[in-house]
Formats: sequence, C-alpha cells, structure tokens
Amino acid sequence: MPFAFADGFKFSDMERWQQELQQCIRTLDKLETHVPTKNRERMREVLKNMRLSITPHTAKLIDFTNPNDPLFLMGVPQERELTVTPEELVDPIGDEAKSPIPFLTHRYKDRVLIYATFSCSHYCRFCFRRFKTGAANPGPSSDDVNRICEYIVAHPEVDEVILTGGDPLTLLDAQIEDWLRRLREIPTIARIRFHTRVPVNLPSRITDNLVTVLDNHQDATHPIFLVTHFNHPREIATENIEVIAKLVRAGVVIRNQSVLLRGVNDNVATLTQLFKSLTNIRVVPYYLHQLDLARGTNHFRVPLEQGIELMRELQGNVTGIALPRYMLDLPGGHGKIPLTPIFLTKQATGTWLAEGPFREQLRYDEPMV
Ligand code: SF4
Repeated sequence: MPFAFADGFKFSDMERWQQELQQCIRTLDKLETHVPTKNRERMREVLKNMRLSITPHTAKLIDFTNPNDPLFLMGVPQERELTVTPEELVDPIGDEAKSPIPFLTHRYKDRVLIYATFSCSHYCRFCFRRFKTGAANPGPSSDDVNRICEYIVAHPEVDEVILTGGDPLTLLDAQIEDWLRRLREIPTIARIRFHTRVPVNLPSRITDNLVTVLDNHQDATHPIFLVTHFNHPREIATENIEVIAKLVRAGVVIRNQSVLLRGVNDNVATLTQLFKSLTNIRVVPYYLHQLDLARGTNHFRVPLEQGIELMRELQGNVTGIALPRYMLDLPGGHGKIPLTPIFLTKQATGTWLAEGPFREQLRYDEPMV
C-alpha cells in the first residue's frame, strides 16, 4: 500500500483520492465480485510476479463482461502472464545497467531518471518495470535523496530530471514538494518531468493543492512537464478531461506516451481516435512505444513490422500535430531509437523514389548544390 496513516487517522479524514486508493481492487476476492477467477492457484502465481490494483475510476470504465475489452486487458490479470519467452528480460531496458547510484538511472548525457517510489495507483498488466513495481519495494530514503542530489550537482551536463517509478504522483503533496524544492536548488536543472498514469487512472489525485505545488516550482524558463500514459480513447473520460484542463490552465506542459498493445490499440482507427482526442484536450502525443521485452507480456506484443506499417497508415490519416514517434527502447540500457517507415529510397545521385502518404510512387529530383 502506498500510504501508512498515523494511528487514529480515519477513512473520512482522507482526501477523496486517498479514499479511492483504499478502495482499489487489490485482491482476487475483490476481483471475483466483478469477474470469476478460473484457476485461483495460477492467478496467485500471476500476482506474485505483478501485483494487482484497479482504481475505482478505471473499474467503472472496464466492461467486466467482455474479456476482450481493451481496458479489461490492460488491468485484469491473466494466466498468460506466466508464459515467458526466451527473449523476455527481467530488466528489459537495462535501467540497472545504467544506474550509478541507487534509485537513479543516467542513460543519456543531459538527463537522469529518479525512481521516487515503486508504487502505482493502478498496475498495468504490461508493465515494463515490473521487476521493481511488481511487489512492494521501498522507495528512496532521505540518505538516498541526498546522494541523488549530490550526484546531479556533480554532473552539470544534466539539465533535466525525470521523476518516475512507479508513479511519483502517488506520493503525498509534501513529498512531491520536497522533491521539487531539492531539485530547484540545483541551478543546472531547467526541466523537471513527471512520468505518471495518475491523470488516467486516478484523476481525483490532481487536486487544486497538487496543481499549486507544481506551479510554485516552475517559471518562464524552468518548466514542469507531465508525461501521461493514455493507451486507449475510452480512457479519456469526463473526469480525465477536467483534470487535464486544470493542469493546462496552471501552465503545466503535458505530453503523452502510449504503448502499442495487441488487442488494445493495434489498429489505425483506435490509434487515430486516441491521438486526435489527446490533441483536442491539449495533450501532445509524444511517443508510441514498442512494448519492451518484459517477462510475461508477449500476449500484448505487436510485431515490429506491423507497428511500422501502422505508422505508415497513420501518416496519411492523422494531422502532424497529433502524430507521435514510434520508438523502440533497446535492451541493455542502450537507449531509444525511432522506428520510421521508409518513404524515400535513393535511385542514383540526385534521384530518389518517394512513396507519398497516399501510397503513390513518385520520383523526386534533388537540385544539385
Ligand atoms: S503506471 Fe507505469 S510503472 Fe506503474 S504499472 Fe503502469 S507501466 Fe508500470
């Protein structure tokens, strides 16, 4: 559980988002009230690898009568998670290989990831960081936080910090404020990013006070970015739209990264609706990720060739301001690369063969310089 409340602290004393966290579906017994569990023994094994939490907000959106419902697939554990392919890895993108001190990954020169907590409000069945989030793992202690800040000060080439996890917005306001205050004391840090699925699964967490905390720690040249994680248009419900509008009004810059997931969003119509709906609420689609090689997630994986073909189709369907880049995070901590359809092939010096967005084959002659 993400919180420990002092003795005597009552449910009615909690803020609404904290009450909702207490009401999540976290056990097989509670899940049974929505959908029957066929094989309890096997499901217990599944939950040993990746814990369960479905927020009340998302539970209302899931069609529990339909096992193929995209929101059902993303939130409800399945026996298929016990199947692990030889290619799947414990730490699929090499976070640990690029971790010079605990709770920090330094993969790219100009930015670091900080794991502020390993708790989430809602556990995604395709989670790529399940080796940390899958069970209750402690977050950084105050000594760890000191070491993290000392590391960043000693690396002035770092001008961006990404607070991730887990989900950093499951921390209390005071904890978030502490992180922001410590990071803003480091003069080389310009941009602070939060990677969070809270605006999707627990929109009540975006309280007025939280928005004030965020806004108090940004100015004209030191922005706060919030990178959300909407994967399906049905996740963009009324309450989600309201909290995004609240964040936008406070000047928080919002981007979205989706994951390409089989049975969830692996078709042109769903991705088009997702990317356009996000853009309409002023959330810029930023990345579409190829699913990382996390253990037990193969039933969600879309072949690379199919993903590239989807991007080719989207090129002619979706306005450029709504079209994200399709990315592959290479195993071993080697970083991300864009997966781009080939639209241009060199024929001879100055002569190219182009395939237009509507599939016409065209010759393009390049003026000599
Ligand atoms: S919110 Fe992120 S870290 Fe948490 S379960 Fe989902 S993918 Fe994993």
